[in-house]
Amino acid sequence: MNKLYCLPLGETMRNKFIEDAKQFAYGQAVFVVPGHILLDEVKKAGSVRTVIMDYLPNELLRANHLDVYTRISRPAQEMVIKQIIKSLVKKGELSYFAKLADKKGFIKNMVSFIGELSRGGITCEEFYAALQAWERTDYLQAKDMEIYHIYLLYRQELKKQKRYDVDGLYRLAIRALQKENCIVPWEKLYFSEFYQFDNLQIELLKALSKHCSIEVGLFYDAERPELSAATENAYMDFMGMGFIKEQLQEFTPRNQGLDHFVRNWQREHPLVGAADGIIVFEAYSVENEMRGVLGKIKQQLQAGVACRDIICVVRSMEEYNGFSNLFKEFGIPTTLPEVTGFTAQPLAKFIENIMKTVAAGYEIDVWKELLNNVFVDRIFGINHEQIEASYNEKYFASPNVLQEFVENKFPQSRIGELFNFIASLKSKSTPADFTNNFLQALEGWSLEKSYGEVYKANKITLKQLKAVVTTKNMVTEILEEMVGAFEQSGQGKQKRPISEFLEFWEERAKEKIITLSQGDKLGIKVVEASTIQGILFPHVYLMGMREGQFPKVKFENWIYNDQERKALNELGVTLPLTIASMKIDQYFFAAVAAMAQQSLTISYYADDAAAASCYVQELQQYYEKEALVPTFYNTDVAHCYSAEELAGILVQQEFLAVAEDVWLTNKLGVDFAFRKFLDKERWTGNNIFNGYLEQKQECKYLSASALDNYVQCPFNYLVTNIWQTEPWEPLEKETQPAVIGDLYHLALAKFLNKHLEENIGLADYSILLEELMLDLADVYGQLAAQGLISESEFSKYDYKRYRIVLGKWLLAEQAYQANQKINLLPKYLELAFGRKDSTLPGVPISIDGEETIFSGQIDRVDTDGNNYMLTDYKSGTVPSAKGVALGRFLQLPVYILAVEKLLSVERSKIIGAGYYGLKNCKRSGGLWENTLKEDLPWLYNTRPNNLSMVMENAESAIVASIRGIRNSAFPANPAEKCPAYCPCLDICRYRVSDGTQDTGEEVEDNV
Ligand code: SF4
Repeated sequence: MNKLYCLPLGETMRNKFIEDAKQFAYGQAVFVVPGHILLDEVKKAGSVRTVIMDYLPNELLRANHLDVYTRISRPAQEMVIKQIIKSLVKKGELSYFAKLADKKGFIKNMVSFIGELSRGGITCEEFYAALQAWERTDYLQAKDMEIYHIYLLYRQELKKQKRYDVDGLYRLAIRALQKENCIVPWEKLYFSEFYQFDNLQIELLKALSKHCSIEVGLFYDAERPELSAATENAYMDFMGMGFIKEQLQEFTPRNQGLDHFVRNWQREHPLVGAADGIIVFEAYSVENEMRGVLGKIKQQLQAGVACRDIICVVRSMEEYNGFSNLFKEFGIPTTLPEVTGFTAQPLAKFIENIMKTVAAGYEIDVWKELLNNVFVDRIFGINHEQIEASYNEKYFASPNVLQEFVENKFPQSRIGELFNFIASLKSKSTPADFTNNFLQALEGWSLEKSYGEVYKANKITLKQLKAVVTTKNMVTEILEEMVGAFEQSGQGKQKRPISEFLEFWEERAKEKIITLSQGDKLGIKVVEASTIQGILFPHVYLMGMREGQFPKVKFENWIYNDQERKALNELGVTLPLTIASMKIDQYFFAAVAAMAQQSLTISYYADDAAAASCYVQELQQYYEKEALVPTFYNTDVAHCYSAEELAGILVQQEFLAVAEDVWLTNKLGVDFAFRKFLDKERWTGNNIFNGYLEQKQECKYLSASALDNYVQCPFNYLVTNIWQTEPWEPLEKETQPAVIGDLYHLALAKFLNKHLEENIGLADYSILLEELMLDLADVYGQLAAQGLISESEFSKYDYKRYRIVLGKWLLAEQAYQANQKINLLPKYLELAFGRKDSTLPGVPISIDGEETIFSGQIDRVDTDGNNYMLTDYKSGTVPSAKGVALGRFLQLPVYILAVEKLLSVERSKIIGAGYYGLKNCKRSGGLWENTLKEDLPWLYNTRPNNLSMVMENAESAIVASIRGIRNSAFPANPAEKCPAYCPCLDICRYRVSDGTQDTGEEVEDNV
């Protein structure tokens, strides 16, 4: 007799079934549960064979010697579907999905949709009949037929290859049960803790029920239709199969407040005053939530509660990264294992980069990434950091040049082995050849031996050693899975491009996780809500009750939307709907809450993005106002449950008692008191940690650009000009901006040198242009010969750009010269002063009785014999007008002082100094006499500052800067917003410190 026990919420038939099963010989009765956690739970009873559902069809086929088919893996399914779609495109039989045909996401969605059809027990014929009855027309009909064809071809391919997917397995078993003399190895089957069965599972149970007795325990309460919606289909199916129904009553004792929830959730309910046993806990971040929960658990453990009496349930484990580490920090044992990502392991990255080097057609950047891996140090005996440092000095145009360099630099290393191996990889090979080749190389690298020695030398921990060995095993596993998948999809013998192996690798690698240490079976259980119900615990922690997290809206596969699914359901093609997943989530929530007997703690974190789940808000309606007010997790010395938290609290205290001081010193080091205030204090006063050095500096010589550096940010000056550190910047195939700037400067100087004091305003543009282009070619050749310009595939485009810029400059220059009322013409070009090779001496400025000599190089000085104008070419951004006015850019003022002193020009004759942007070929900004707009019409279009006013500010800024340098005052104090190219970004704490806020201003756009 087959029976269906309809259970109230929170009840289970598990214990009764286990007792009942004892009357059968072991193996004659089988207990079937939906997942591994429940499997372990029943196995603990030890008297009944316990299995998950897929065991039944497998065992049936084995018992009847029908296990000749083999199961296809998911990646192989994707390959089969991909091939089918490709062939349909080739034959012109795909129009609706043609544009998506080569998209990975489309293939995956199609595979999962086919899975839905299969699990729903829909045969190709049934699907076709439903589509015919649907009577859709035009492109929608085309869509339906394309899906049907893909499904049909997929089924045919599986049959041809004697393979089945998980759904095929059920079909084979159902067919076997329909045969005469079918051997069914069981007398009795018990099903417990299921909330749903798909069509094929129901078909299997129907067929089995004719051979053995079946009893099912299922939550179903006709008086709570809303909550029973999750199990309604299963209930109806069993009723349809003629199962005898038995309705059970609640019998589990619970705390009163909890009992009220379990009995009344989702139905008419009276309000009760107290929510005994229910605690709502609100956190402000996911970490705070985890800490809060662990704090509460620790309190319970300290009060004598056993670990086995507590469970933590989350909706999705993905949201709780680092939970096992926090358990460790709190000293609480847990079933959670300690894990780390596979793709982050150096060996995994190394393997991936080897594939990329070949797949990417020997791209130099991929080679650099390959060698930039600690793994090459350990196994091949080179220093990857030294190689990386060489990227700053030398540009490697091709992998061959890089290989040669590495081999010469490390002649004793085994790096040649690696290069030979990569050279042996063909861009196309069979999956088996590729894998064998790879695995052979992997063995040859003797990882265990090398890393074992490193471990013995105490250079890595046991966990790190374990991670290496496990990674190696996983590498082997993925490569072997790959061979299997290609074989299963019928492509095992074909030579495939390495890019396909790489694609497979990337897909599988991201799913792999390395377990560093197993969880403690006796520790606090942490499970996902979908995997557990029907087990009672005195204390349940239900975490992640946050909007968007629980309930988790699961949108169905887009191949058919919800509306289309409804229509297909009416035509007999059962497909899940989005609303159904909402009902199931609601059931998960209720089922987990009903596991609690004494206390249920519901936790979530609320921030700007989301607050408490709607379930929490609904739950509050079941109790009188204020009965379920959220609590928060605040730690203080008396209420903190991990050493780290205690340290965090103590470190904030101004004064510590001796015992605490000793404890903290042992934990954090003797300088903890100093370090705790460092981040804030470093920014106050003349602190050594903010660049105020004790030793005074001399400032005898100073270049105009170094002065500007100091004014822009003194710390940058310290790093760049005093320490003279070079920024870590690998040479790229693109020419560096500074070199491009030099190229323009030199080409313009060369050209204008031939036209000194000549007005070219009305000269023939084409002749001048030809001349300028020759000068450009000449300068370009010189820079290339010095190795400053990299010859690459971009070079010719870059060169074209330089020609265009200079052509535009010539047009602008002619217009400026033609339209000016004062005949200002170039007289001095690249006028250097105070430099090693310059003919002009430096400019001395005396401050506080000491002299500082300025050096620099003025791009251009124009004059009509009476008036003087200075020009600074800018190939990058032009300094802001506001910055110039405030004395934040001192180069031009210093140049004015230089012209005044070195060329003996009276200040009143220097009518201005400005920038000449080469990006837009326009003069702009700078400092000018107010009266000039009539004479130099282009000044109308710029935003010039008044020369006298700027000079006054500049002279004060020069004095302040020199005093600052002499006093060794180099604080991180940007005049404007920290520039993205600041060479100190990696070492400067200004932007990351709690003690500062970025008060710099945006650089204004110049007109
Ligand atoms: S990052 Fe900002 S504060 Fe630090 S050195 Fe650079 S400009 Fe100065």
